[in-house]
Amino acid sequence: MIEIKNDKIWLSSPHMGGEEQKFVNKAFEENWIAPLGPNVNGFESDIESYLQETTHAAVLSSGTAALHLGLQLVGVTRGDTVLCQSFTFAASANPIAYLGAQPVFVDSERQTWNICPEQLEKAIKASLNKGIKPKAIIAVHLYGMPYKVAEVQKIAEKYDIPVVEDSAEALGSSYQGVACGTFGDVAALSFNGNKIITTSGGGALVSKKASIKKKTIFLASQARDEAPHYQHSEIGYNYRMSNVTAGIGRGQMMVLDERVKARRENYKYYVEHLSDIRDITFLDEPENVYSNRWLSCILTESYERREEIRKKLEAYNIESRPLWKPMHLQPVFKNCPTFTNGVSEELFEKGLCLPSGSNLKSEQLEKVVELIKSIG
Ligand SMILES: *Cc1c(COP(=O)(O)O)cnc(C)c1O
Repeated sequence: MIEIKNDKIWLSSPHMGGEEQKFVNKAFEENWIAPLGPNVNGFESDIESYLQETTHAAVLSSGTAALHLGLQLVGVTRGDTVLCQSFTFAASANPIAYLGAQPVFVDSERQTWNICPEQLEKAIKASLNKGIKPKAIIAVHLYGMPYKVAEVQKIAEKYDIPVVEDSAEALGSSYQGVACGTFGDVAALSFNGNKIITTSGGGALVSKKASIKKKTIFLASQARDEAPHYQHSEIGYNYRMSNVTAGIGRGQMMVLDERVKARRENYKYYVEHLSDIRDITFLDEPENVYSNRWLSCILTESYERREEIRKKLEAYNIESRPLWKPMHLQPVFKNCPTFTNGVSEELFEKGLCLPSGSNLKSEQLEKVVELIKSIG
């Protein structure tokens, strides 16, 4: 027998709680091997009760699918302009292109690393001056840190533009005591393999309106009209979550709070042990903000220094990753208008995500710290 040695320390790996398989087995026993069934409904109500505010959740095949349908449901169509946080993962912006709309990227502010309200208003005014009203704002709670919700909301209301809240990394985070995933006109959650909880792959579209949930499910299930035969008056998608994967989600919801706690403990450990290194800094939580600390991030003094740390860890089979490369620097989006202030470019240059999984052992955290300290 070949023994596979797997001592790699991952950035963020799946962490099952133990109950997941029971729900999956039940799907097999009852033959609900389909994109509908009791686990799908159960997972949706688990999410709705977790988020507390009156929310309605539709579970889908991915967070990207949720953003795609969310943009469509707030009215984005071909040729429209959509404002999007530049400092994010490409999945926040790609759905703008799926709809044939035009992304305009907006830089971040330093307090939360998320969309800068000043740059956002500048972008809106510039667009209005050209006679174009932006059709949506995509704001992201990056790394689980809530964006400036009140400020963004105020601007969105002033100009009457819907907000698509990308909460893919922020399940379990809250802003002034209110759960992330409940602020936008629509919000997207992700259950991809590296997220705070996972279904292997999956997502959800959350809204305060039951009608949005209904329409999401309709569109995600091929937009079938009510008829005994197959009839379609709209273009649909095959985006619904399977009842098998939803079973994993039900088990994961039972341990979500524990997962958040463990990730916050990781972050705390890094702060306690790395803060006295000359150039390393962290992103504190602003007042009344609670981050799930999906990934623990550090800032260093320079690109070279960030690379030195990353390569040292890599040499010891430890995965770390530079902060997200801003969308306005991505080759695929290079011709898109952008409102920049230098913040996201600097974060990308100097920032690094450290191993952050909820299943990290204390020896593993110690090893990461020890190696970084050894560089000096
Ligand atoms: C993971 C992620 C997504 C996409 O979610 P998937 O489920 O992987 O499609 C979108 N936005 C952000 C910020 C993410 O981190």
